[in-house]
Parts: sequence; structure tokens; C-alpha cells
Amino acid sequence: EKLGVALVGLGEYASGQLGPALKETVYCRLTAVVSGSDEKRKKWLADYQLKPENLYSYDDFDAIKDNPDIDIVYVVLPNAMHAEYVIRAARAGKHVICEKPLATSVEEGKRMVEACNEAGVLLSVGYRLHFDLFHQEMMRLGQNRILGKVNRIIADDSMDIGDPNQWRVKRELAGGGPLMNNGIYCVQAAQYIIGQLPIAVNALFLPKTDPEKFTDIEEGIQWEMEFADGMIASCETSYSRNGNSLRADTDDGWFELSPAYEYSGLKGRTSTGVLRFPEVNQQALQMDDFAICVKTNKHSKVLGEMGLRDLIILEAIYKSAHNGQKEPLDLDAFKSPS
Ligand code: NAD
Repeated sequence: EKLGVALVGLGEYASGQLGPALKETVYCRLTAVVSGSDEKRKKWLADYQLKPENLYSYDDFDAIKDNPDIDIVYVVLPNAMHAEYVIRAARAGKHVICEKPLATSVEEGKRMVEACNEAGVLLSVGYRLHFDLFHQEMMRLGQNRILGKVNRIIADDSMDIGDPNQWRVKRELAGGGPLMNNGIYCVQAAQYIIGQLPIAVNALFLPKTDPEKFTDIEEGIQWEMEFADGMIASCETSYSRNGNSLRADTDDGWFELSPAYEYSGLKGRTSTGVLRFPEVNQQALQMDDFAICVKTNKHSKVLGEMGLRDLIILEAIYKSAHNGQKEPLDLDAFKSPS
């Protein structure tokens, strides 16, 4: 039987991606929604043929603990709200998927992981690209040194952010700027391409061209991640231009994706030819994989701990950009499970 998923927060990602993906999933299905808007709840009730008693508001959210239709809670709220809803879901005894970034601080991330461990529920983070065939090929090429050792990774995930009133440009809701929202994909890719964790970061804020819009977050940031084998990832993210690429230079050639971080339409090439893979529904595969983990009590390959580890890296990147010094990282505690 399919596990029941409750989506918390019915914004763009839930409506545009996760809801539709839950119509394609094999091991789970949408059974409940949590929203502050009565109008949205009614729309989802109709669109997804939900039971009227499976519509929740943020106030009565904790009542999900008595609802056997809900096995998994998927938190799709602004970043600063992730911690509260993940912890409440765990206390209600539900397994949790949380959108990226896991939280807005390491401290919050630790509390979330602890709450899930204490409650004996699984926590996963919405790193959908682990389920994309192009990214799996990046991992294979890099980790198995198919084109030789990777010496350098160059990654850029940037977007013209638009609307100056949205939560993404407000520190108290987003926790930071493009590094939290987009740069995290580069941080992830650098690690999974070579299958290693960084030992230091070095970062620099880019000059603000629109200080009124970007009052309390960075407009852009450049950073390097250093790895024990000498590999360097050079990354950049910005909210005032578009960019979507990932490249690895190796002893014997190179491989790259551009666009690299989209939901579909990725394009890949290597020094020996074009990469061709069928399109997949990243979100459907991600949610099905988690449902299988829940059913079989297995660790997800995108574990909450991985989201926490990335928050430690993001905080180090910010610290380095602020004080102009290289920040060492000690991630030994996270070596396993990867
Ligand atoms: P959104 O603004 O479209 O949706 C956010 C939802 O939260 C809205 O329904 C809004 O009503 C609700 N909300 C409740 N309290 C709020 C408050 N105080 N302020 C603002 N909104 C509030 O955002 P989104 O793009 O759906 O992003 C939600 C989460 O999903 C974020 O953590 C984001 O990083 C993540 N996300 C991930 C991906 C991905 O590819 N994995 C893509 C997009 C978004």
C-alpha cells in the first residue's frame, strides 16, 4: 500500500512540482495538506481528491499525530520555518522530508536531527538532484575517476531574483541570500562528484549593485572549497544574473552539465562526447526512494545529517566572506553514513 504524504506549505514548489510528482509516485501518494489559506486547502481538496478531514491549518497541525492516513510530512515552507514544522512533525511521530536548505542555522539543524532521532522517525532533505540520471553520471565519472582524477570543479547557480518583497530576500525568513537558496546546489555537487567532504573554505562577497533590494542578505558570493586530495571547487552564486553550470576538469579530460540544476532539460557533455539520459521526474523518484526507506527502515541517501553538514559548510563560507580568512572545516563526525 502507498504511504500517505502531507505537504506543509502550498507555495510554488509544492504546487508546481511536488503535488504533480505525487501523482506519479508508486510507493507514496498525497493524502493531506497543511496551509494557512482556506482557499488553497479547498483547491487541493478538489485537485487531489483529498478527504475533507485531511486538510490542516498551521494551528491544528499537531493533530496529524492521530491521523493514520499520514506517514510522511513534507515541509515546503520558507527556510526559517523548517525547524519548527520538522520538529512538530517528528513529535507527532511522522517521518519527515524537509526542503533545502535544511534550516537557517547549524543550531536549528542540530535540533531537527535530534528531534527526529528521539522520536525514532527518519529525516531526509529535498536534494532532488541525487535522483537525476545526469547527476548520477557526474558522481560515477568523478568518484570512479573514469576520465582520471578530478582536479577542479567550477560551479555556478545564479538567478535574477525579481520581486524585492519575497521571503527569499529577507534574512529572517531565508537565513541568507543566494548561497542558501542556490549556492547550496554547488556545495552539494562539489562533494558528490568526488565523494569527499571539504577540509576548508575561502569566500568573498561580491559587490552589491542594488543595496536597497539586498539590504540584509548578500547579492552574490564567490567561494572555494578545498578537499584533502588537493581538489578545489570554485563556485559562485548571485541573485542579480542567471547562471546554471557545473564542470569538472580531470587528468584526462572534463565533464559538464549546463543547464545543471533544473528540474528537467539538463544537458551534459564530456571530453569524449555528449551525455544522453532519459528525463526523469526527480521529485517523484526522491519521494518514492524515501517511502521505500520508511517501509524498509533504511537510511535515505539524502539524510537529514547531510543537510546539517551542508549548513556547517554554508556557515563557514559566510564566516570566511565576513572575516576575509580561510575557514578550516572538521566534518569527520559526518563521514558516515554518506
Ligand atoms: P513559496 O513562497 O512559493 O511558498 C512558501 C509557502 O509558505 C507559501 O504557500 C506561503 O503561503 C507559506 N508561508 C507560510 N508562512 C509564511 C511566511 N511567514 N512568509 C512567507 N510564506 C509563508 O516558496 P517555495 O518556492 O515553494 O519554497 C518553499 C521551500 O521549498 C523553500 O525552503 C525552498 O528553498 C524550497 N524549494 C526547493 C526547491 C527544490 O528544487 N528542491 C525548489 C523551490 C523551492
